Amino acid sequence: MSLKVLKFGGSSLADAEHFRLVADIIKSEPTRRYVVASAPGKRTSDDTKITDLLYKCHALATDEEDITAVFDEIKDRYNSIIAELGIELDLTSTFEKIRLAVLHSSGRDYVASRGEYLNAMILAKYIGYDFVDAKKVVFFNEDGSFNSELTNDVMRDVLSKHERAVIPGFYGSMPNGTIKTFSRGGSDITGSLVARATSATIYENWTDVSGFLMADPRIIADPKPIKKITYKELRELSYMGATVLHEDAIFPVRYSKIPINIKNTNRPDDEGTFIVPETEEISENIITGIAGRTGFSSITIEKAMMNSELGLGRRVLQVLEENGISFEHFPSGIDTMTVIVGTKALQQKRADVLAGICKNIDPENIFVEENIALLAVVGRGMVKAKGTAARVFVALANAGVNIRMIDQGSSELNIIIGVDSNDYVTALNAIYREFVK
Ligand code: ASP
Repeated sequence: MSLKVLKFGGSSLADAEHFRLVADIIKSEPTRRYVVASAPGKRTSDDTKITDLLYKCHALATDEEDITAVFDEIKDRYNSIIAELGIELDLTSTFEKIRLAVLHSSGRDYVASRGEYLNAMILAKYIGYDFVDAKKVVFFNEDGSFNSELTNDVMRDVLSKHERAVIPGFYGSMPNGTIKTFSRGGSDITGSLVARATSATIYENWTDVSGFLMADPRIIADPKPIKKITYKELRELSYMGATVLHEDAIFPVRYSKIPINIKNTNRPDDEGTFIVPETEEISENIITGIAGRTGFSSITIEKAMMNSELGLGRRVLQVLEENGISFEHFPSGIDTMTVIVGTKALQQKRADVLAGICKNIDPENIFVEENIALLAVVGRGMVKAKGTAARVFVALANAGVNIRMIDQGSSELNIIIGVDSNDYVTALNAIYREFVK
């Protein structure tokens, strides 16, 4: 039997008008039984998210400053939603309890979590669903890591007793009962956990865009939406900077093979993007998307007979590890080897890293180049379509872009290209226009 889990982001629950849209969406299908709510987000671009106001309250209280103005702003936001929706819910005593907790140095995570707690209570009341507190169904270990097994077992059991429920996103509880949150945007993870625990047929993630776009709209004018993307492709694209969904939200549903559908609360009829475990279907454009990031540096090491020297790569990477720097790519030639790392991370440790490599492998030459941008051309269709790489490189050559590094993952799911940061926008446009006519 079909069962849908829905998660609504902050912009979808920012005011009473959006609550009405959300209620219509939920009520339009009886299979939409479990709902995860975020805290109210921004109503306009210069508005402040409730979560940020709560963090501010906590900071003020820590500095022993007056929280009244900020706390009243939070109360007003919720009270106006309640009043405009005409629901009978008096949160006066709950607000007072939270205010006292803020003042009496309760944890930062507890304070932040009240945004989703209150919003989920209001939504549950408005649509007539049960309210299930996340602290009773999401658990963390003593060391702060997420306790996946316990969460799944308890959540499955608890939710089986509720035909329909709203669960606040973003937080859970520590073994001693205190509240802990996921990282920012973590309600996506809660949604994914609820989908897994209830064996949902689909996890609908409702936001304010109609799914993923093939490229960053700030760089490519009016990019095409992605209809279908696999979990693996999404990982590649989000690693390179494409965000809509919290990165960690993919894992729980990925292993249970539950598809995620990114939907737009303001345009519920738009299909959105389906994130699926696997698909035979290939995008009409061959590539699924392009993403990229600037701010990388390369360390190039030259040494004769490098290819036959055992353990050389390990010794280079060991220096990076000792300096707390993770590497992004590691392309190598016969007598050269290049390590791509984040410029910021390298800057602080540059002298130590170069000295360490010189000591560890005694190279003939070593040099650092900055201002590298990485582009990832991602698409499951590349495995089957011959000539995709050729098209990428010809497009870049025609646009006058010099390629500084190439790395094709063994999965053939992506081609990573390093270019000069100044060529970043030209390169993205050239590749996009080559594949999308
Ligand atoms: N409200 C939290 C945040 O702003 C969590 C979420 O919205 O997913 O990060």
